[in-house]
Amino acid sequence: MGLIIDGKMIAKEIKEDIIIQVEHLRKENNIPKLAIVRLGNNAGDISYEKSIMKSCTEVNIETKNFTLDNNISTEELQQIINQLNEDTTISGILLFRPLPKHIDENLIRNSINVNKDVDCMHPLNLERIFEGDYSGFTPCTSKAALLAILNSGIELDGKTVAVINRSMVVGKPLSMMLLSNNATVTICHSKTNDLKKITKNSDIVVTALGRAKYFNKDYFTNNSIVIDVGVSQDKDGKLSGDVDFEDVVNNVGMITPVPGGVGSITTCVLLENVVKASIKKSTLI
Ligand code: NAP
Repeated sequence: MGLIIDGKMIAKEIKEDIIIQVEHLRKENNIPKLAIVRLGNNAGDISYEKSIMKSCTEVNIETKNFTLDNNISTEELQQIINQLNEDTTISGILLFRPLPKHIDENLIRNSINVNKDVDCMHPLNLERIFEGDYSGFTPCTSKAALLAILNSGIELDGKTVAVINRSMVVGKPLSMMLLSNNATVTICHSKTNDLKKITKNSDIVVTALGRAKYFNKDYFTNNSIVIDVGVSQDKDGKLSGDVDFEDVVNNVGMITPVPGGVGSITTCVLLENVVKASIKKSTLI
């Protein structure tokens, strides 16, 4: 049986470290506080919001929620973002995406104070990742996938990695981070030919399609390290990754489950970013 990478355990270790950092900040009267901005009442967003608030409470980070109407205009949303930018009690801003179609997302992304941009929406923070500069914020999901690899004792130096996703939220920043760790990266997408050949020839495969159980054991070898970022529902309505876990787990070297894998680590990266924002705040005041 392949080794199952325990995302919950990795998350627990990261949280322990965050608790200590928050304690230090609080002693200096620097209270980490996350503003959570949600538009509308999407069930998935509400559940994600609840889990973020629970995690923040666990590490003693404060939260302030802003639930806005889905029909809010770009200008009104920009005004709220500006107020949060100015509010010195707020360390970081998390704006749930995707935004409704009528909102000018580019304008909003550019409105967020780069030093409060804990979800790495601002083009400047993304650009830094592409330059190999990690002084800004890292996109939470990409960093979580990287941590699932690194915190499992896997040495990336010289490894071949297939990243199946080319979005700006997951695949592109993750590929840059893997490159910075000396991996040789192949970025795959829906137009990639002979995906199976690429995955079978890669030491590590990161999947982020959003199609439940798409990959069976034929895509991997006994040595494959499989990092499953995808989250969707299977035909029975059960939460599932892109990989058919039952079919694959006995035929690979290591694998992350869904749930309990990358997703468990993602929120921790957000918490790390809030701590980073609080430290930035104290150096800027
Ligand atoms: P997205 O923008 O829809 O990206 C999907 C990617 O998969 C695209 O690059 C697409 O290629 C590629 N793709 C689709 N079908 C393919 C196929 N048959 N063969 C090869 N590539 C294919 O989605 P996203 O926002 O990046 O999210 C991806 C997944 O990650 C979703 O399941 C989402 O729920 C999950 N996610 C997880 C977390 C977490 O914390 N675990 C957080 C965020 C997102 P094209 O570019 O050619 O269309």
